[in-house]
Amino acid sequence: MEIGILGGGIAGLSVALALRKRGYHPRVYERRAGPATMGAGVTLWPNASFVLEELGLLQDIQAVGGRPLTMRRQDAAGNALGGLDIGLLDRTMGYPTYTVLRRHLQQVLLHHAARAGIPVAFGHRAVSIELDAHGRAVAHFEHGASIRPDLLIGADGRMTSVARKFVAGDNTPIYQGFVNWIGVAQGPHALVDDMSIRDFWGAGQRFGCVPVRPELVYWAAAQARPLHGATPAAGMRQEVEKLFAGWPDPVSRLIRATPENAIRLIAVHDLEPLHTWSRANVLLVGDAAHAPLPTSGQGACQALEDAWHLARCLDGASGGLDELFQAFAKLRAPKTARLAEQGRVFARGLFATDPETCRIRDERAKASDPVRDVQALAAGWGQGLPMPGGADSMPAEDGGAGSLYRIE
Ligand SMILES: Cc1cc2nc3c(=O)[nH]c(=O)nc-3n(C[C@H](O)[C@H](O)[C@H](O)COP(=O)(O)OP(=O)(O)OC[C@H]3O[C@@H](n4cnc5c(N)ncnc54)[C@H](O)[C@@H]3O)c2cc1C
Repeated sequence: MEIGILGGGIAGLSVALALRKRGYHPRVYERRAGPATMGAGVTLWPNASFVLEELGLLQDIQAVGGRPLTMRRQDAAGNALGGLDIGLLDRTMGYPTYTVLRRHLQQVLLHHAARAGIPVAFGHRAVSIELDAHGRAVAHFEHGASIRPDLLIGADGRMTSVARKFVAGDNTPIYQGFVNWIGVAQGPHALVDDMSIRDFWGAGQRFGCVPVRPELVYWAAAQARPLHGATPAAGMRQEVEKLFAGWPDPVSRLIRATPENAIRLIAVHDLEPLHTWSRANVLLVGDAAHAPLPTSGQGACQALEDAWHLARCLDGASGGLDELFQAFAKLRAPKTARLAEQGRVFARGLFATDPETCRIRDERAKASDPVRDVQALAAGWGQGLPMPGGADSMPAEDGGAGSLYRIE
């Protein structure tokens, strides 16, 4: 079977690797001229590490990634608001969490794709998909070439997916009322005291710092603002520094340790759950199918999960592509829709500007039970995967609490 994949991001490359492992010969078509060098980083939670291990990539991720053991929350004045015991989450789910720069993750994926003999055609921007006389999809590229594989996988991301337009019509991403400035700070010496992820909450503002190493830290500064105020302008570093002046250490230090040209402004959009992820012989995966807000922390992790599930569904599908697409959507749609909704709910609280709402939000965060938080995350993120701590691994009689204390 000929398989073409539009998009060489996290979803496209991981799907290609998962399919190659099962004996298929996918080809990847990426619009960029070469590997991406921009973007900050991603946190790969244990469910992502499970997939990376299955794909044989986890050792390489470990070599370039950081290993955070806690996430500490504070308000803008420095008062503690609790946090997350990542070490306990990792032990509960049986896999480690890694923080990694996006370009390093991409390098690892591309390196393994090259080793597996997967052709990645850069400079191939898909501009449209149409059906031929036999009802098979043909993808056309900007420079005039076209492909007509047996299975066409749309992994062309969140904002302008050509594949999503073909499958679901005019389903445009929705601006969720806040912007992110993302950056990577690098210093000759340590910029942070330890490897904790730090999360600072203000009124309508948030700052998150994620160390990969003590001297290499990616960050995201966020602010609620209308879409018309979400255009990048010169002097972004100064603007962010001013907006977060007076916030606790190490916020200002990180902003100052980031070159202006390493800061990017993103108007943050997500997707309504689609009514379908497939049409004819085209299937959507990753952000093209289900792009959650970054506040879900799970976009890349879910793209990786798609790869793992799709390869297994393809193996099991004796009844053709329709059966494959249905099996895949049945497995993936409920979980991705739930995570997208959780990302929205969390964002509403985070970007509230009313002082009373912020006070209640902070009190709730402070009062939350760290063990139950880990339990809930492990159940939600592990769902559908054969890993400890996930909802599927829980004995029915104790509602799942029994798996919490599993230490491996
Ligand atoms: C600020 C921010 C922070 C985030 N942090 C995290 C995190 O900590 N953890 C996490 O799990 N997720 C995180 N995410 C989400 C995560 O980045 C995405 O969910 C993930 O990148 C999705 O992978 P993808 O391959 O589907 O899309 P992408 O990574 O966007 O890749 C799509 C690829 O398709 C290519 N492409 C696009 N259009 C075409 C076309 N027409 N023809 C050919 N190629 C095309 C693009 O160039 C790109 O290479 C974050 C997102 C943001 C915005």
